[in-house]
Amino acid sequence: MSRVLTTFGLTAERTIVSIPSTAASPVRDDADGAGAPAAIDIGGERLVVIAGPCAVEGRDMILGIAQSVRQSGASMLRGGAYKPRTSPYAFQGLGIDALEFLSEARAATGLPIVTEVLDPRDVEHVARHADLMQIGARNMQNYPLLAEIGRTGRPVLLKRGFSATLEELLMAAEHIMAHGNAHVVLCERGIRTFEPSTRNTLDISAIPLLKARTHLPVIVDPSHAGGRADLVAPLSFAAIAAGADGLMIEVHPDPDCAQSDGEQSLDPTEFAELMARIAAFAQAAGRLPPGGWAIRSGDARDERGPLDAHAGRSGGHAEPSDARRGQSPKALATLRSGIERIDQKIMGLIGQRVELARDAGRVKREAGLPVIDEIQEHEVLARVRDLATSAGIPYEELHALQAYLIEISRRAQTREPHPSRTER
Ligand code: PEP
Ligand code: MN
Repeated sequence: MSRVLTTFGLTAERTIVSIPSTAASPVRDDADGAGAPAAIDIGGERLVVIAGPCAVEGRDMILGIAQSVRQSGASMLRGGAYKPRTSPYAFQGLGIDALEFLSEARAATGLPIVTEVLDPRDVEHVARHADLMQIGARNMQNYPLLAEIGRTGRPVLLKRGFSATLEELLMAAEHIMAHGNAHVVLCERGIRTFEPSTRNTLDISAIPLLKARTHLPVIVDPSHAGGRADLVAPLSFAAIAAGADGLMIEVHPDPDCAQSDGEQSLDPTEFAELMARIAAFAQAAGRLPPGGWAIRSGDARDERGPLDAHAGRSGGHAEPSDARRGQSPKALATLRSGIERIDQKIMGLIGQRVELARDAGRVKREAGLPVIDEIQEHEVLARVRDLATSAGIPYEELHALQAYLIEISRRAQTREPHPSRTER
């Protein structure tokens, strides 16, 4: 039998893999000024950025980098505990200790954890620490591992093997899903080609092709694709433009001294700069920018294990404020992102209105007409009564909003400086 579960056959909907986040505070307050995102949704409208070192090299190192990537707006923390190294003499990872440090980093920052599992015998233990279990490129066709991860039912990040076709990647995902796990995220991380300038060749076409052939979310790892820190930003932008749902980026406090993959790791400053630029590309691609996090004193710490946290998401765990509103946290997060999207549109439209008003002002001046046209403004305000009725909003409130819009445009027309500039 061919692919069934990864195709659009049984479902017309795109899968959103929802990773519960522990209690923390978003950088940008939501439109209603409340609460933290209850979950990181991979495959939704908002881009997801997973960031952190190739390998966890120590407790202080991972705690420090977790705080730093969180402040730059990362959605999740990555860090290898078990490293699949080409040489048996290279650093193999800190194993169980690294998993403990990662859990500590999650408790300190609220960032969900992504870490690789190499051995089917470790799956149960890794699942107790990881919020998203990674299957590396070298293990994409390790069928006992795929089966074991499938049986956990926990979110999994499946990386494309460097010589695997898209069909083989999707078949590997099918193995996981056939064992009862629907929470699969695919990752394009570059394939092996004849070109030696880069570690691998990022297969940009894989993104739209996968999005067409499967409902599963697709993210991109520009770090392993290019193998060079200077390529991480351009490859990230290209991935977003091609429709990726997120990125996984290696960030190290001191790349020159990294135990693995230093040459492709960004330092915290480079990562912050990249994150600042990503929002514009997200917007151009019709996506919301990555949801960020800010550290506030008194952030609630979630001491529950990740297994409990995940069970809690579907089992009714909710932030108190969410419970008060009678919403599931996931529903609330979706509503908030809808509100934010509308706000962005409104701001864009106000900008366009001001531009048109400026042009109108210029035309009026050239024609010798008065710039302020009281009759026209009166007519605009009169139309608000009809709009208010059809929108079900009190007339006075909409009238005040329209009057303020006219005021903003008037100032632009007459070139009066905006109060925010004069009051400072
Ligand atoms: C990694 O992400 O740490 C990693 C080893 O990547 P890949 O499996 O894609 O080589
Ligand atoms: Mn690496």
